Amino acid sequence: MVYRGRFAPSPTGPLHAGSILTAVASYLDAKANAGTWLVRIEDLDPPRIQPGAEKAILEALEAYGLESDEPIIRQSQRLEIYQEHLDRLIANDLAYRCSCSRSELKARMALTEYDRFCLNHPPADGTQTGVRVVGGASPSFSDKVQGPQAAETVSDFIVLRRDGLFAYQLAVVVDDELQLINSVVRGKDLLNETSKQIVLQQKLSFSQHKNYAHLPLILAKDGQKLSKQTLAQPVSTSLDHIRESLTNTFGKLALNPPKDLIYNDIIDIYRWGIEQWKLSKLPTDLKV
Ligand code: GLU
Repeated sequence: MVYRGRFAPSPTGPLHAGSILTAVASYLDAKANAGTWLVRIEDLDPPRIQPGAEKAILEALEAYGLESDEPIIRQSQRLEIYQEHLDRLIANDLAYRCSCSRSELKARMALTEYDRFCLNHPPADGTQTGVRVVGGASPSFSDKVQGPQAAETVSDFIVLRRDGLFAYQLAVVVDDELQLINSVVRGKDLLNETSKQIVLQQKLSFSQHKNYAHLPLILAKDGQKLSKQTLAQPVSTSLDHIRESLTNTFGKLALNPPKDLIYNDIIDIYRWGIEQWKLSKLPTDLKV
């Protein structure tokens, strides 16, 4: 089986040290497995998109020498594909229109463990609704970095938001399938989303098995995840900075880079990283 992995940034801000770690780790894992590495722009949520962020991300990836092996796709241009999959879920009674707000749902969930209010009381035609997929059992799986993950029962969750936007879960599951991704290497902040994604893969009868590896997150001084929201510094694209940033990133990825690695060409820095790469050696967390 040919390895196919991806890096899927949302253009909500420029890349920072945390997103570079994810990009570099997913790239090294793909290349160490003689695999294909793709870049996918997850621009589904217009209110969160920052003007110019996609351009900044693509320029940074290029400066870092991280080139997608196939043309880059953008989720904003794939709405019809998501709609087809959504229609199929609804037609097969695997998803239903739901008008509950998050707080209504919370209150209802508290009343009974698993209340499918809108499934039993369909909202009137013409009301603005979201669509919720019927949850179910998600099997245990072994994350290549975080270790064994218990089986769980996933509650019904949103695949189309009430504001008419497709939810991340639907788009990511559909795209990973259609792009034949079989290795998902991404930040640990998405570990808890994985069971939902596995359930959705099952509902859509997707057969592609996926390996998951959830990387440790770089934390800010206050212990918070470094993120665009916490205004993490964008990475600089000067050559000296990139060399330093790559060797720092390798250190975080438990590669133990020699001090003089920094003086090499970028391509040789990656070559060294690919040779040394061992997913199983990665720490589950990074120190603040
Ligand atoms: N677009 C998501 C993010 O930027 C990543 C999705 C994924 O890797 O599954 O957080």
